[in-house]
Parts: sequence; C-alpha cells; structure tokens
Amino acid sequence: MRCVVTGGAGFLGSHLTDLLLSQGHEVIGIDNFITGNRENIAHLSGNKAYTFIEKDVIEPFDIDGPIDRIYHLASPASPIGYVKHQIATLKVNSQGTWNCLELAERKKARFLMASTSECYGDPAVHPQPETYWGNVNPIGMRSMYDEAKRFSEACTMAYHRERGVDTRLIRIFNTYGPRMDPHDGRVVITFIKQALHDEPLTVFGDGMQTRSLCYVSDLIRGINMVMENEGFVEPINLGNPSELTILDIAKEILELIPQSKSMITFREMPPDDPKVRRPDITRARKILGWEPVVSRREGLAKMIEYYRDKLK
Ligand code: NAD
Ligand code: UDP
Repeated sequence: MRCVVTGGAGFLGSHLTDLLLSQGHEVIGIDNFITGNRENIAHLSGNKAYTFIEKDVIEPFDIDGPIDRIYHLASPASPIGYVKHQIATLKVNSQGTWNCLELAERKKARFLMASTSECYGDPAVHPQPETYWGNVNPIGMRSMYDEAKRFSEACTMAYHRERGVDTRLIRIFNTYGPRMDPHDGRVVITFIKQALHDEPLTVFGDGMQTRSLCYVSDLIRGINMVMENEGFVEPINLGNPSELTILDIAKEILELIPQSKSMITFREMPPDDPKVRRPDITRARKILGWEPVVSRREGLAKMIEYYRDKLK
C-alpha cells in the first residue's frame, strides 16, 4: 500500500514509518519540523520505498498517484510544545485535519486521526473508557491542544457520516521511547536527561498525580492494528493501563541509573495538570486483541541505553 504519515519526522511518526516500511509498504512522510527532527528520519535516506515532503499540512495539499492510508499524526504534542505554538496547534488540529480528510475523500484512502487522552481533560471518571466525554477547561493552558483534538475527532466523524470517508480514531495515552525530543519537557525524557546529567529531577507539585506509560513499540503496533481493523470507526484508547505516580516514575528512573548523583526536587504544579490518567483498554483488547507487552522497567532500560551516549 501507499501510506501517508503526517508528522512523519516526529517521535511517533518516525517509528510508525519504520513499521510500515518493514511491512513492505511505500511511505510518504510529511512534516514541517515545528517540533520534529531531521535526525529521526536520517536513516531512511536512500530508501526507495520512502519519500519525504517538507510541508505544513495547514495549507491544502495534494499528492500524486493513489493513496491507500493516511495516518494524521502532525501536531505539537508536549505541553511545552503546544503552549509555545498555540495557534499552530489549533490550526494543525482543525484546518490540518480538514485538509487530510479532504485528501482521504479524493483518494478514497482510509484515514486515521491521532487523538489523545487529553480529550478527557482532568478526568472525573477513572480509569477512562472511550464512552467518557471528558472534563476539559475550554480556555485553559492546555485548551489549544485539548479542544483542537476534540474538534479533530468531531471533524473525522463528520467526514465519515456525511461523506462516507473510511475513518479510524485513536486516543493515545502517554508514550515514551527513543527519539523523544530531550528538550520538549515531557516527563520521562526530562527525568532521564536530568538523571544522566546528575541534575535534580524536577517533580511538579507533590508528585502524587498519576500517569500510565506505554512503550513506543507497543503503541505503534496498536496504531497499525486500529488502521487495519475492518470497520470499527469509534475512538479506541491506546496506552498501558499500568498506572503510577510521577514521584514513583522519578524513583524508578533513578533506580535504573544507579550511578546518577541526582536528587529529587519539587517545583510548582502547572495549571490544569490532570491529577490522574489511566486508559481503560477493554475496547482495544476486544476489537483488536491488542494490549501492551513491554514492561515499564524493560522499556525504560531500553530508552536509557539509547540516550546514554546521545546525551552524555
Ligand atoms: P512530535 O512532536 O515528536 O511529532 C509531531 C510531528 O508533527 C513533528 O515532527 C512536527 O514537526 C509535526 N508537525 C506539527 N505540525 C505540523 C504541520 N502543521 N505540518 C506538518 N507537520 C507538522 O510528537 P509525537 O509524540 O510524535 O506525537 C505525534 C502525534 O501523537 C500528535 O498528534 C500527538 O498529539 C499524538 N499523541 C502523542 C502522545 C505521546 O505520548 N507521544 C500522546 C497523545 C497523543
Ligand atoms: N512533570 C513533572 N516534571 C517534569 C515534567 C512533567 O513532574 O519535569 C509531570 C507533569 O506535571 C504531569 C506529568 O509529569 O503531571 C506528565 O507530564 P508530561 O508533560 O509528560 O505530559 P502530560 O501527561 O501532562 O500531557
């Protein structure tokens, strides 16, 4: 198949590209590098099955020839990234999604929207099933991301219902692994960077807020399985249901880097930071037979090995 991956030079987009190429597909990566990195796709240069187009998907675009699949991953994804690029985040998850859906309709391609657990906001239901509508502050410091992703979901369903576009929707929960941007402030890469540099690990608030961490290979396998499932168009949560506090994440990372001289320090909690987050993955298990298989210790150890040389 010919697959388009928007956000193809990002953390998840580049791993998804590797998986699709390994399955024998042709991949067209699109990225404007607003938060992505050329290094993430450097290993693909010279690969005849891979084409890269530097482009902002906020502008309408076309691609020559047939397209079978469009994975729409383009968007700043870290709280630092989307607050720095507030308007670009709103646009890529509205006009950008719109443009990709128009392309899907023209090409009769199947379209997958990478949405997020942030659609649930600071959740009042725990763990979060797909049937929960969320608790989002529409004007808060995460609104440019949360509300735009919610718009993208609505847009995806509208193109499905009114125009018959073959669509898929995923809500991704916190994912970690190699190729994360060490400067984008997301918790796992930040703690690993700090521990490798013998700097204090910056826990926000009292560190009692929780997250559930999914290793990148599990997540990417899940994204591909959602795309290839026949006919289920409603959102599917993808993430690892193993939940822990941020303070425990800091402690686990320090245990895995025993030579680190880092201590833990506490900083002010940013506004609207969700207090808990854990996916209910019953739907993914039932419809796809998918669940994560990489344990947190194994995943964190792999990630630390990857960054040990890169960051020292
Ligand atoms: P990332 O920042 O590494 O990758 C996103 C990529 O999109 C970057 O390469 C960026 O340059 C590109 N991009 C942004 N706006 C663009 C535009 N207008 N035109 C073209 N390219 C553009 O982030 P990621 O972690 O790989 O996230 C990928 C997708 O998954 C995002 O849509 C994000 O919202 C979603 N997601 C990720 C997580 C996670 O834990 N990683 C969780 C929930 C949702
Ligand atoms: N966090 C932290 N210290 C950091 C970065 C993040 O304590 O240096 C916390 C943050 O407040 C949040 C959690 O870790 O509660 C996850 O943050 P991240 O930015 O990775 O993503 P989020 O899940 O909030 O979108």
